[in-house]
Amino acid sequence: MAHHLVAGGGGFVGSHMADVFLARGDTVTIVDNFVTGRRSNVAHLAAHDRFTVVEHDITEPLPDGLTGTVFDSVLDLASPASPLDFATMPLEILAVGSTGTRNLLDLAVAQGARFFLASTSEVYGDPLVHPQPESYLGNVSCIGPRSCYDEAKRFSEAITMAYHRVHGLDVRIVRIFNTYGERMRPDDGRVVNTFVVQALRNEPITLHGDGRQTRSFCHVSDEVAGLVAVLDGPITGPVNVGNPDEFTMRQLAELIVELTGSSSEIITVPLPDEREGDPLQRQPDITLASTTYGWTPTVSLRDGLGRMIDWFRAHEQL
Ligand code: NAD
Repeated sequence: MAHHLVAGGGGFVGSHMADVFLARGDTVTIVDNFVTGRRSNVAHLAAHDRFTVVEHDITEPLPDGLTGTVFDSVLDLASPASPLDFATMPLEILAVGSTGTRNLLDLAVAQGARFFLASTSEVYGDPLVHPQPESYLGNVSCIGPRSCYDEAKRFSEAITMAYHRVHGLDVRIVRIFNTYGERMRPDDGRVVNTFVVQALRNEPITLHGDGRQTRSFCHVSDEVAGLVAVLDGPITGPVNVGNPDEFTMRQLAELIVELTGSSSEIITVPLPDEREGDPLQRQPDITLASTTYGWTPTVSLRDGLGRMIDWFRAHEQL
């Protein structure tokens, strides 16, 4: 059975990947400094005999506990990823996307492991093409408030491909589109959890601008199934993994109010500074993922939100 190193495994998406790997009989080591992840995300795995946590910042040299272990795959999911993080941790984001990714690439080369990079739809910036296929090169600001994240991920993709070309490293690159679900941090500023928390507190739901901007949301169970298919599959990528169903922010807010039975009113507020450059529309073209792996999302927004709301009610003190 494979042994995976999941950098960022204490985070939202990484912890769900750990669950899937363990459920199919694999062994998982996570490395995480918990800057945006939560120990509670993996607390249920603490006693598992095929699961290990190494608390470490991957921008620092990797400890013997990692370099001395043989991994079949090294997965890089370590990065702060929310718009609030872009404002408060730009240097940490640039460091983890450059030095952090390079440290993991060196480990994968030394061990002959497969390297997996969790990239992002943000590499397309504010796209001029809809939906976005992998061949679209993007419309990205290299100096705006989101540039720390967008350019860090573009660099991560570039250095991953350089290691592939120079060292012959076996690599996989996925571009993750907006993902939501159980274990999101309630306060990280991403739109779905922000609206869910506002609704559960019966506070006003704050639409930015006119609420007509659209997003496509993928439930984390679908997302992780797609990521694992790419890891196990034959192609280097990049491969888009996301749900192409598109909703306006107003539709999202209305659905969350309905599902929570909230008394929240939906109000509009000006776009905050840290949202400058937010794309108005984002939608994945998933032709490559569906034709290569037969992967398509299966969870409707209504069902996924229902699961997430139940989880927030049971696990978060709101
Ligand atoms: P998250 O913040 O919950 O998880 C990221 C994890 O990385 C956290 O546990 C954090 O503590 C850890 N980390 C950050 N810097 C680190 C460092 N220097 N050393 C060790 N660990 C570090 O975010 P997420 O939503 O689970 O995102 C996981 C990955 O997927 C990220 O790379 C993100 O860019 C990518 N992604 C996520 C989405 C999404 O919608 N969730 C969309 C696009 C891309």
